[in-house]
Amino acid sequence: MSKRFMSAAVMDKPLSIEIKEVEMPEPKADEALIKVYCIGVCGSDIHYYEHGKIGRYEVKQPIILGHELAGEVVKVGEKVTNVSVGDRVAVEPGITCGRCDYCKSGRYNLCPDVVFMATPPVDGAWADYVAVRSDFLFKLPDEMSYEQGALLEPLSVGFHAMRRGKVGPADRVLVLGLGPIGLLAIQSAKLFGVTEIYGSDVLPFRRELALEMGASGVVNPIGDALEQISSLAGGKGVDVIIETSGNARAVSDTVRMVKRGGRIVFVGLPATDAIPMDIPLLVDSELDMYGVFRYANTYPAAIQALSRSTPDIEKVITHRYSLDEIKEAVEVARTQKDKSIKVMIYPNGGIQK
Ligand SMILES: [Zn+2]
Ligand SMILES: [Zn+2]
Repeated sequence: MSKRFMSAAVMDKPLSIEIKEVEMPEPKADEALIKVYCIGVCGSDIHYYEHGKIGRYEVKQPIILGHELAGEVVKVGEKVTNVSVGDRVAVEPGITCGRCDYCKSGRYNLCPDVVFMATPPVDGAWADYVAVRSDFLFKLPDEMSYEQGALLEPLSVGFHAMRRGKVGPADRVLVLGLGPIGLLAIQSAKLFGVTEIYGSDVLPFRRELALEMGASGVVNPIGDALEQISSLAGGKGVDVIIETSGNARAVSDTVRMVKRGGRIVFVGLPATDAIPMDIPLLVDSELDMYGVFRYANTYPAAIQALSRSTPDIEKVITHRYSLDEIKEAVEVARTQKDKSIKVMIYPNGGIQK
């Protein structure tokens, strides 16, 4: 059989990315071939692009980045039954073993054998096509766009944070850090029935966007954030904090910001290992704390919730580029953090619904 080729954005070393013709993937028996229509630029992609590594994962050979995507099924392997050619799907980018204790107990985000897209040496999908195991494909209802489909990935982190923090309609929620994850955590809180959601970020443009996306109030953490938050919440305090900034001081302050008996969900990764925290206060206040690593079993629930509401999740998209413009797209995401939230790439001829 003759080989077919496609365009893909290949990064061969930090700050060097180029569109190349690469061999088109051929789906295995349990995989489907996806024509990629919309794919996000994530903070982790930018980190690999800039530094060539995150923790123990290092770019040692040319890699295709990108893992937040939606597209159309154009070919299926002979064992695939859950999707067919022509289906519009969102792709969950971490393929797990399905056999370990974590997978079997439903916490498959902790699977030690996960193969996660765009995590070296695994290729991602800043490309025209990608082959994906079909049980990680989720059909999009007609009313959901490819953009919404691609945003299911970062939204899932917020969704998982709500579940971890046992968030419900009676809670007052405070989101620290209003980047894509923080803003989509606000959207997740709304989908979980929360009516009082506050946000905190140093950048005015992010605070404004948070208000547009449904935050009840916002604060600038420079200054007396504690006082501002307590006045916003009518002196009642916040029940749950979702920490997405990774800022050491914000992390340390969470125990003072949340009310007694409250819950703190840590999503952002601080750059330092050890952060001081007032443990006597934590004990005295009987706080619950949770870590969040990616997500599990969020796509079906998020699709159902989104298709039955009028979500504003696309408001996080501040920039749109074709695959050919990848260099500009990653540079905007890397250097214009004061103006950009989510940068989206549209392979296969630009924006499609
Ligand atoms: Zn991501
Ligand atoms: Zn597993």
